Amino acid sequence: MPILAAYGPAAYRPAAARRSTSPAAGTAGRKPAPAGRRFDVLPEPSLAWNEEIARETAHLYERIKHVVPPVEWPFFAPYVKAINTLKAKRDAVILAHNYQTPEIYNCVADVVGDSLQLAREAAKTKSKVIVQCGVHFMAETAKILNPDKTVLIPDSRAGCSLAQSITGEDVRLLRERFPGVPVVTYVNTSAAVKAESDICCTSANAVEVVESLGAERVIFLPDEYLAKYVASQTTVKIIAWKGHCEVHERFTADELRKYRDSDPTIQIIAHPECPPDVLAEADYTGSTAGMIKWVHDHKPKRVIMVTECSMADNVQVELPDVEFVRPCNLCPHMKRITLPKILDSLLTMQEEVVVDPLIADKARRAVERMIHL
Ligand code: SF4
Repeated sequence: MPILAAYGPAAYRPAAARRSTSPAAGTAGRKPAPAGRRFDVLPEPSLAWNEEIARETAHLYERIKHVVPPVEWPFFAPYVKAINTLKAKRDAVILAHNYQTPEIYNCVADVVGDSLQLAREAAKTKSKVIVQCGVHFMAETAKILNPDKTVLIPDSRAGCSLAQSITGEDVRLLRERFPGVPVVTYVNTSAAVKAESDICCTSANAVEVVESLGAERVIFLPDEYLAKYVASQTTVKIIAWKGHCEVHERFTADELRKYRDSDPTIQIIAHPECPPDVLAEADYTGSTAGMIKWVHDHKPKRVIMVTECSMADNVQVELPDVEFVRPCNLCPHMKRITLPKILDSLLTMQEEVVVDPLIADKARRAVERMIHL
């Protein structure tokens, strides 16, 4: 069913009320807390490449040798060793999203996955410190679910065009316009937006969440293309918002058709944040976790993952015999997270993510309702 209507910043909000366009603007708790005052700031370890480091990290390089050239490993390895040593000292767990680079995803992360998997693991962790290798809304979600833990993000400027597209005030205006219609919010939003929502969802469970409400209509925020995809999978009427992922909206149906024309056997799998004409070219549409599972299950000879570039590298590590064709786009926000910044974060215990407790309590209800579904 087509979506009922799509509202967005340009049409719905007075220009004066629009927010700054900085990547992570408008997210709750931007100001880092002075975690460094509660923790010792540790001296920087030696980052020299030598035979001992080579020997101790050889098993990790073995994992990523298909996607990281040997010439790069002497730079990465000392950071990998230092981070893994410091993790234990700080009682920290590192969560890494599927879009993180292979040396982070495969060599220092304790938990990897999509937003839903990371949210679930964040709720379960026993460690005192969580280092979120992803973007700011993911770190906020970890903090919302773990208010008593220290949550760090190695670069708080790691924002998201979807999270930036909407504010809590926008949600309140939509509720006034559609009284009684429940609000489903994609996790790619600030804590302030989650706090105004009835329930959160991810791309993995969006259809299930929408249908769980038993409503005739739902307001689905903020990704217009995910809303269209959900609308195509359900009879529930969808009221959408015109937010877009700046990475997935750049793919075109035309470029995928050219790949298909050059190799009719190639498999194309796409993320539902892509425009509808791109999804129409795909053999499978699913969340990042769904796409990874699809490749494991089908083991295609050649495949295009229509999503952020690094994910193909990370799946390639596990499936070296599959050829990943890469018309990929990089997420500039995810790529702000690097090994040197993760090390710095653990040494200084910066930057700590803070969420106003009142907002966190309201947002937690929406996130936990999703997790318990
Ligand atoms: S890939 Fe898109 S949705 Fe994900 S963090 Fe980057 S901009 Fe946001």
